[in-house]
Amino acid sequence: MALKIIESCVNCFACEPLCPSKAIYEAKPHFLIDPKKCTECEGDFSVPQCASICPIEGAILDMFGEALNPPGSLTGIPPEKMAEAMAELQAH
Ligand code: SF4
Ligand code: SF4
Repeated sequence: MALKIIESCVNCFACEPLCPSKAIYEAKPHFLIDPKKCTECEGDFSVPQCASICPIEGAILDMFGEALNPPGSLTGIPPEKMAEAMAELQAH
């Protein structure tokens, strides 16, 4: 079991010091998780520490490719509202 950081990571450095397994490392073009070290925080914390601090929706995925912080989960803006707003902006 391991989580994965994808390209929407903004390299904010927040997650790296929190990882109890030292699985997160700085790389190019963005931080990565060593799948051999990541334990999903089991035994250390009740929730994955990296995902709990990550400010970017969709930057950390589980083994099924599901975002730990899905769209709307951090901003509180429902995805359909966001899509409407973006469409509105692009129309002008
Ligand atoms: S889930 Fe936990 S062990 Fe895995 S990378 Fe994130 S902080 Fe580290
Ligand atoms: S907290 Fe999120 S955005 Fe920041 S470095 Fe980690 S994965 Fe990237």
